[in-house]
Amino acid sequence: MPPVNAPYHPQGLTARPLHARIDADAVRHNLARLRAALPAGDGAPRLWATVKADAYGHGVARILPALRAADGLAVLHLTEARACRSMGWDGPILVYGGLYSPADALLLDSPRLHLVITHAAQLDWLTQAPLAQRPAVWLRYAGDIHHTGFCAEDYGCAFEAARALARRGVIGEIGHLNHYARADEDDGIDAADAAFRAVIASLPGPVSTSNSAALLLHGARAAGTQWVRPGLALYGASPFADRSAAQLNLRPAMSLHSQIVGIQRVPAGAGVGYSGAFLAPVATTVGIVTCGYADGYPRHAPTGTPVIVDGVRTRLLGRVSMDMMAVDLAPVPRACIGAPVTLWGASGLAVEEVAASAGTIAAELLTGLSARVPVQLAGRDPGP
Ligand SMILES: *Cc1c(COP(=O)(O)O)cnc(C)c1O
Repeated sequence: MPPVNAPYHPQGLTARPLHARIDADAVRHNLARLRAALPAGDGAPRLWATVKADAYGHGVARILPALRAADGLAVLHLTEARACRSMGWDGPILVYGGLYSPADALLLDSPRLHLVITHAAQLDWLTQAPLAQRPAVWLRYAGDIHHTGFCAEDYGCAFEAARALARRGVIGEIGHLNHYARADEDDGIDAADAAFRAVIASLPGPVSTSNSAALLLHGARAAGTQWVRPGLALYGASPFADRSAAQLNLRPAMSLHSQIVGIQRVPAGAGVGYSGAFLAPVATTVGIVTCGYADGYPRHAPTGTPVIVDGVRTRLLGRVSMDMMAVDLAPVPRACIGAPVTLWGASGLAVEEVAASAGTIAAELLTGLSARVPVQLAGRDPGP
């Protein structure tokens, strides 16, 4: 395995010295760590590894070998389920988006598909499909997030409609799914869980409620369900503002690496970058890093956002532009052209920290990594 900051040249060609490194072993570690937070043995919740948005920007194909120990995968759309099948995943696949149109039902062409059902028309569409596979369905409760799903008043009706489909052999098992709006808060799920439990109290079927935050913070509740659905934590990011991934024993699966490609001596009073958003108060040595918002680095990251240059923590200066950004070389005067730069995910600089500085969350940065950034795969089982 090359050292973290080794320049990466896809196909052996020379390349711009910017690359993301995806560590499959970190995903494997995080999966085991999440599993360990749940009870073991019979009755233990099973685990959907959430791989929507191409595994939160990491690439499903790259990390699938590391997810072999998951009980199922969770995706957004049936086309992604198909892609997972073509990559050799035979296990269950949960489809968060269910069906967007009657035509989507034609994609129900493999066994062990689980559909999240969020409105009544989707159940009608299922009846029209030429189904041989009897997908399981999960009725989604609107809960306290109110994005998709049935409200308390409509839930019983939806369950009866689903049960009629099951009797006709159109679908298999019927489960109950909830997604919390505030699972990252200590007392964030008590009321939401009580409301959900009241709605499904008299209804048979498995239950799934917990994303990463709920699993990590409200593990006792997750333990009482049949399936958990972590995403973010699998990739080694903390869902909490006040607890780091390291504190949670999660390892970042993506790191972003670049180099200093220019050095500017900026006199006192001069500006750096577009609109002179940073004005040098004193004469400043500025390093130019080849990475910009077209690579997925957040344009809203302000002066002061942490960056690692040659192992030393320093800061972004001024406005991030499309292909480059400026950093303060005062703490690392020895840095020259070619000095390694870590933008996130290694050397103690968590993607969460960069995200917080830019007023966003880790998931947005991870999923926003641009297609033009070459990826270097590390860890066991490196795939294609
Ligand atoms: C994305 C998603 C998850 C995973 O959430 P994380 O916070 O990334 O763990 C779980 N359930 C549903 C319904 C989702 O849409």
